[in-house]
Amino acid sequence: MRVTEISLTDWRNFAAVQLKFDDAINIFLGLNAQGKTNLLEAINFASLGRGRAVKDAEFVRWGQSSALLRIKFFARSVEHVLAIEISPNKRRRILFDANALKPRELVGKLNSVLFSPEDLFMFKGSPVARRKFLDAEISQASPVYFANLSRYNRLVDQRNNLLKKIRDGFARADELDLWDEQLAEVAEKVLAKRLAAVDKLNFLANLMQRRISAHKENLSVVYEVHGQDASNNLTENFLEALRSRRFVDIKRGSTTLGAHLDDLNFFVNGHELKLFGSQGQMRTAALALKLSELQFIKSETGEYPLLLLDDVMSELDASRREMLLDFLRREKIQTLITATDRAYFPPRSFGKFFFVTAGTLTERVNSFADGH
Ligand code: ATP
Ligand code: MG
Repeated sequence: MRVTEISLTDWRNFAAVQLKFDDAINIFLGLNAQGKTNLLEAINFASLGRGRAVKDAEFVRWGQSSALLRIKFFARSVEHVLAIEISPNKRRRILFDANALKPRELVGKLNSVLFSPEDLFMFKGSPVARRKFLDAEISQASPVYFANLSRYNRLVDQRNNLLKKIRDGFARADELDLWDEQLAEVAEKVLAKRLAAVDKLNFLANLMQRRISAHKENLSVVYEVHGQDASNNLTENFLEALRSRRFVDIKRGSTTLGAHLDDLNFFVNGHELKLFGSQGQMRTAALALKLSELQFIKSETGEYPLLLLDDVMSELDASRREMLLDFLRREKIQTLITATDRAYFPPRSFGKFFFVTAGTLTERVNSFADGH
């Protein structure tokens, strides 16, 4: 994946910007609240169809009626142009090489991995962030998985509505039969893909963790099926498991097992990271996971996704920063990095530098030589 150009119109605090990227490292420097994250969010939005906003209106520059993103990139040496128009309360308009795409067809076109300070906390707290991490990784590598997952989530919502009706006496329990069969079929596919992905991730993330920790730490990633003991093979018997929980589900008015509740757990040298990990071990593991996500997507699609590093340089110590920059250079991974301070980067001949100031972008050629 290689992004060559982006233009943003009324996206967040950018009225109109256009820029050309370096094939390797692009560094965006700026004080707080200038638009650095907004820029990275635009690219990640073009990958996954979501960003930090709850409503599309939040992406549109205040006082304007629509936002427009236009991104030129190469995927497996073929040039593409992706254009997305966002207007509050309207459907998104997406053009891919001038062909209209449905929102659900977007994922898998422009692949990117975002690493931001929130990821350092993903081991603790709610499973939502961990599921999002796993789903973003698999979906970009496999549009079929993304389609199955979306269908799975819709079916769970519909089943939950029916469960509530049954509980309240407005529907019969046997009306669940048809839903359960449909849900089980897609649930088994989603779970099988997740288990296979975690297997691979477990291997890749451990290699990275060992490399970052100078071979002192092993990392393992475990997929945890919600409320089931591991001996139950849900990839083949989901329907049976659903039926056996039917009365619990009706009582609760919700589906109490499945991919929407499952979680990931992490272990360093055999000890549960969220319970025993030090801050440094969690940082190392977060970095290892993100780098293994890049490798996972490369191994599935044939090329590295774009890497977006939002404000993480300040969170890593000098040796981890060096390891990271070395890895990116060696693997030739196109990267966009935001930071408030240039001190995190080596002095010369290092990709392109841009300054971000109140929604404007200025490129600085050889910025370290000119006294800035
Ligand atoms: P930090 O270093 O603090 O992370 P940043 O440069 O990453 O800063 P951003 O998160 O990109 O900052 O946000 C920059 C500013 O964009 C915010 O202060 C906010 O006021 C503004 N902003 C966010 N959404 C919109 C919008 N829809 N319209 C106009 N301005 C917006
Ligand atoms: Mg920011």
